[in-house]
Amino acid sequence: MKFRCPVCMYPSLAYPPAHYNICPCCSTEFGNDDSDFSHAQLRQMWLESGAAWFFGQPPAGWNAWKQLISAGFGALVPKPFQVASFGSLATNAVRVATPVVVTSHSQFAVGLAA
Ligand SMILES: [Zn+2]
Repeated sequence: MKFRCPVCMYPSLAYPPAHYNICPCCSTEFGNDDSDFSHAQLRQMWLESGAAWFFGQPPAGWNAWKQLISAGFGALVPKPFQVASFGSLATNAVRVATPVVVTSHSQFAVGLAA
């Protein structure tokens, strides 16, 4: 049985988020850290520290933003990362495919010179 961390939403805790178990993703020690701060506060602190993986190597393909989005916390993902995670490839493809529109002779000349 897997448990979801109520702070960072990591879905694969091996133990319940209690009894001084520590989330390997956000490092919250349950029963200690969350007796001083709410889960929302701890989540904010984790985000502000960069939302990094805490213990050892993260699982293959792990992505903090996708983890939050899959748990319904997409609004917490910083805007630049919302684009970077899900829009950049498509956006770049469109950008590359968009032809340069020449609107005047001077621009055309610059284009030729370059
Ligand atoms: Zn966590």
